[in-house]
Amino acid sequence: MNIINSVRKKSIIITGGAGFIGSAVIRHLIRDTSYNVINIDKLTYAGNLESLKDVSNSPQYTFEQIDICNQSEIIRIFKQYEPDFVMHLAAESHVDRSIDAPAKFIHTNIIGTYTMLEAACQYWIKLNKEKKKIFRFLHISTDEVYGDLKSSESLFTERTAYAPSSPYSASKASSDHLARAWNRTYKLPVIITNCSNNYGPYQFPDKLIPLVITNAIIGKSLPIYGEGKQIRDWLFVEDHAEALVNVLIAGKNGETYNIGGYNEKTNLEVVKSICSILDCLIPRHLDKINKYEDLIIYVTDRPGHDQRYAIDSSKIENQLRWRPVETFDTGIQKTVEWYLNNETWWTRIKDGSYQGQRLGLENGNG
Ligand code: NAD
Repeated sequence: MNIINSVRKKSIIITGGAGFIGSAVIRHLIRDTSYNVINIDKLTYAGNLESLKDVSNSPQYTFEQIDICNQSEIIRIFKQYEPDFVMHLAAESHVDRSIDAPAKFIHTNIIGTYTMLEAACQYWIKLNKEKKKIFRFLHISTDEVYGDLKSSESLFTERTAYAPSSPYSASKASSDHLARAWNRTYKLPVIITNCSNNYGPYQFPDKLIPLVITNAIIGKSLPIYGEGKQIRDWLFVEDHAEALVNVLIAGKNGETYNIGGYNEKTNLEVVKSICSILDCLIPRHLDKINKYEDLIIYVTDRPGHDQRYAIDSSKIENQLRWRPVETFDTGIQKTVEWYLNNETWWTRIKDGSYQGQRLGLENGNG
């Protein structure tokens, strides 16, 4: 908190602030700092302004519904708000959707990032010396750019070679390369973060954890890809939000920081822990199903499915003194309780636009 409070009254453009992680970052910034936040979001299926209802009346908060690929609008935003920082989170983010319809991923994740970098660069180059020195463009990316690990291989570090497997991770890898190129060629102050799988409140229920929690609550089956042996390193979203703000303020220009949760779990372990929390909180006594685990079904594996992701977070831990607060046990308990207490938020999504992904599979393993 000391680092945060030492820098006040600055403005941050956040792209994708109506999404899962972006909204957690905005809630954190408005609650705990005095930054002015300008949220730039197109409001795709994944964007939901309801996730910001606790902070949207704050005088620190402004919303602009804009596509990050719209160059003239993005240039206008930089001119109008004269930001000190950019946190670029807007993206198409669901691997299954990228397999079925990759075009949007190429457009938003690559062209959108190019548009943001180019507008930031044109703006930054004209800043006075002092503002120029402070300015940072934080590009938020994923550990999926590193491809997958064998169970015996060591963790992803910032020096691991890129080997993306899906259209999603390939588009994110491309955007990381663009961000590095704008840093190296045009000297735009860019920092990149690569983070493991997030979970927590306000996650759209097509991703594994909210899909399983919400399906279980309404008594629907809990689909698991293959045998559920894929391993992910899970990070509670509020820990990620705090890590990103630390990197923005204290991270070094041109550096990359990996962010992970030290919580490697197989997908089956994750689903079973959700089931046992629900068994305690809202035990089932209906029909033939006595335990939530009985709702698990195994479905055909996703094409090209990565087996294991795991992050070495020692750089951010040693250099910026960040470490996640939540263990998987505490974070998943909070998450299940949040979905139980916020049915209105997710039932509207499940009843309406949400149609289930990769029809019939309905599985959101990240
Ligand atoms: P999300 O899908 O929940 O939210 C994405 C947001 O971006 C939505 O609000 C959407 O409306 C907006 N958006 C999409 N296309 C846009 C466009 N063309 N113009 C403007 N806004 C647009 O995603 P998330 O899970 O919050 O992920 C945020 C970022 O973090 C992404 O860049 C993702 O690659 C990265 N990331 C996510 C995870 C994870 O586990 N969710 C892990 C590591 C990194």
